[in-house]
Amino acid sequence: MNAIKQNIQNVKERILSDAQNCGRSPKEIQLLAVSKTRSVKLITEAIQAGQYAFGENYVQEGIEKIHYFSKNRMGNIKPQWHFIGPLQSNKTRSVAEYFDWCHTVDRFKLAERLSAQRPSNLPDLNVLIQVNISKEKTKSGVMLSELFDLASLISPLPKLKLCGLMAIPALIKDYHQQLVVFEEMHSAFLELKKEYPEWDILSLGMTNDMTAAIHAGSTLVRIGEGIFSHFEGKMNETS
Ligand SMILES: *Cc1c(COP(=O)(O)O)cnc(C)c1O
Repeated sequence: MNAIKQNIQNVKERILSDAQNCGRSPKEIQLLAVSKTRSVKLITEAIQAGQYAFGENYVQEGIEKIHYFSKNRMGNIKPQWHFIGPLQSNKTRSVAEYFDWCHTVDRFKLAERLSAQRPSNLPDLNVLIQVNISKEKTKSGVMLSELFDLASLISPLPKLKLCGLMAIPALIKDYHQQLVVFEEMHSAFLELKKEYPEWDILSLGMTNDMTAAIHAGSTLVRIGEGIFSHFEGKMNETS
């Protein structure tokens, strides 16, 4: 078994045990492999290991990979591409034309542009609203106090499917503190689900805070290091 395949298996086992530890079904939790800065060779290995959903942070890098995998087909497999980086309004067209998902919509202008620029022959673009849960001045994301208004503006837009929420909390090492922040997101998610019962995605958790995110109700974890980090000369650890 190659190393990427082994890592993916380890991450899936962690999802399984984290879910079981809090009485959730592991089927409720999707794994997004965050492939930013990783080569197409490593992504190919991940696809061969059965991982089809990938997250990219940089529009241009993402598009190059999307082109690569549409030219170099692997059987019938069509990888799914999630844009998870900060989005500037002059880049919305590329996201609308190439990606399947956008996790980082935090203002109406972005949503309006994505909606208008999504090609009519493509299915609706799946979008999440990014929340600035740690209230960091320099970070993207809408404040919780403005979330309801933003959702009601975005929800009716054509060619977009609003599926839920996403957040990247400030870096915290302590598990219990991680949990407090994620639970705040989960409450907001449940509150909004009363209005939008079709919402099914709460995108929370990365390699270092995945356990707390799953305990707090995440339905999609975004994992980069845990899948790819021991490669490309970054380090030689065995684990
Ligand atoms: C890089 C990144 C991740 C993955 O983080 P890891 O710590 O590598 O698992 C997840 N989400 C976003 C938005 C990222 O930019």
